[in-house]
Amino acid sequence: MTGLPLLAAGPLAMPHSGIREVINEALLLPDCVRLEVGEPDFATPEHIVEAAFAFARSGAVRYTGTAGIPSLREKLCEKLATVNRIAAVPAQVNVGVGGIGVISAAFGAIIEPGDEVLVPDPAWPCYELMLGVTKGVLVPYRCGPETGFLPDPTEVESRITSRTKLLVINSPSNPTGAVFPRSLLEALVAVAERHDLYVLSDECYDEVVFDGEHVSPASFAGTDRVISAFSFSKTYAMTGWRIGYLVSSRSFADQVNKIHESNISCVSAVSQKAAEAALDGGSEPVISMTAAYRRRRDLCVELLQQHGLLINRPGGAFYVMADVSASGLGARDFAFDLLRTHRVAVAPGTAFGKVARASVRISLASSESALRIGINTLAAHVRELETRRHG
Ligand code: PLP
Repeated sequence: MTGLPLLAAGPLAMPHSGIREVINEALLLPDCVRLEVGEPDFATPEHIVEAAFAFARSGAVRYTGTAGIPSLREKLCEKLATVNRIAAVPAQVNVGVGGIGVISAAFGAIIEPGDEVLVPDPAWPCYELMLGVTKGVLVPYRCGPETGFLPDPTEVESRITSRTKLLVINSPSNPTGAVFPRSLLEALVAVAERHDLYVLSDECYDEVVFDGEHVSPASFAGTDRVISAFSFSKTYAMTGWRIGYLVSSRSFADQVNKIHESNISCVSAVSQKAAEAALDGGSEPVISMTAAYRRRRDLCVELLQQHGLLINRPGGAFYVMADVSASGLGARDFAFDLLRTHRVAVAPGTAFGKVARASVRISLASSESALRIGINTLAAHVRELETRRHG
């Protein structure tokens, strides 16, 4: 006996989230201004909570079918048709454990070790973590500040090799708030079509849009090629309920079902009933929360512009990037310095890839007063470091 066998190499090699390390430290500071977390500060609307309570009390909380309660999947098809212009039947819909759960199941359904996956840079860090588990190879494509964080389809195409299998698109984007215009989405899907790739369209912020329109690639390219992921977390302030859904072809949905059979059985029946209530309850809560995020977006854009730190005006999601390059520090060092000296927490651009290494992400899911204090403090800190640097 020489001890225990080695743990799996993929997760062993994975770093912990670059946002989490800031959160963990911020949680220890009592008066900290928290602008680093991408979580709505609103409570889940009352009628959703009430419906969940009533169902929990009914005594009918049991396992559901793996893909989700049939009535919920019917309602999701109606939502997909009206909001996203995606035509689908319930057999094409998988309900899963949040956007993260359905996206990782989709990765599991497609990727074999060594397969290459095109992922935006900057991007939500979990794509990289999921590829660590599936042993896929992340190939970043640039969504740089010089283009308002939009990619160039020619550059995306130049990264394709014989091992490329999947193109990930995320609009509205976390962390940049960029909303991809229809023409850009059409060009990206055309690249995927030319090279026989799947497209994973992460649309977890599909209803949090301030300017222009959100376009779902599956609305014009169909559900065979484009697998689309959605979530209740951001739209309805339901992060803790852990519920999201995927729409794809029938055969792909069946493959996802097998993965869900092996690792979740089904999503909590209480959360599924809560999601039904969210869909039945009309769009008022979504409209009013989005209006609040828009007011905060306008406030942050104005403040960052005044301080000369604005990179772009986000069109959706609930994030805005601030340029901290004048500080002379990389984003991670800057974020920890700001946290430790002024108790303001922001997410370092380094948590999202290489391209945003001189910027930080500010979450609009915080109160207007916190945003005002946080941004003014951040700007003063950039100036302080800049002055110190130039003697
Ligand atoms: N996709 C993106 C781009 C996100 O930012 C998030 C959460 O932050 C998710 C997916 C997953 O969210 P959830 O699992 O809460 O639905």
